[in-house]
Amino acid sequence: MKNIVIEKSILKNNDESAARNRNILNDKGIYAINLIGSPGAGKTSVLEQIICNIKEKSHMAVIEGDLYTTKDAEKIERQGVNVVQLNTEGACHLDATMVGQALENIDTDDLDFLVIENVGNLVCPAEFDLCEDSKVLVMSVTEGHDKPLKYPAMFQKAETLILNKIDLIKYTNFDIDEFYKDVRSLNFNIHIFEISCTTGEGVQELCNYLQEKIARKKSGR
Ligand code: MG
Ligand code: ZN
Repeated sequence: MKNIVIEKSILKNNDESAARNRNILNDKGIYAINLIGSPGAGKTSVLEQIICNIKEKSHMAVIEGDLYTTKDAEKIERQGVNVVQLNTEGACHLDATMVGQALENIDTDDLDFLVIENVGNLVCPAEFDLCEDSKVLVMSVTEGHDKPLKYPAMFQKAETLILNKIDLIKYTNFDIDEFYKDVRSLNFNIHIFEISCTTGEGVQELCNYLQEKIARKKSGR
């Protein structure tokens, strides 16, 4: 009987590419985040807030993953940030080889901070290391408080969780105590930020946290 285990070899190739990407970033002290979340969670809106706050303090670039369109990348470009679009043509996640190709098109010599916006999906992006220092999970209160237990791998692997659209919580049945309890049961040390891209609530705290991470990576600490 032939038993071909495809998934493992895909992940092995991926990890080799991720290691190559990581060498480039570590050599130059570039802090990288992998921004993950469902379609509509607000990844691009959060990214726009981060750019607004950080672009004057740190040199940043964005790799924008999207199935087919360049809509999000166009928004980022309008903010004056260097952006490379990766269209996956239907693939539901980015892999490290794709990110490696994007990195070839970014001037990394003068870079402090790289944001990789993944394709909207809470499942396989958890499995694919791209080279990031940190997986940042964006979730909105409109998605429901049951998501941590439904997508445990994602919540376990994220270092940071952004609970977005917090201004809308009063219009939903989102049980925030239940949510925190479930998230902590999966990942006790995760950093959680409650934010609203509409009102600006929580954005400064999030950006201060990222800025500290960027500075720490640059100084090699
Ligand atoms: Mg987006
Ligand atoms: Zn996938």
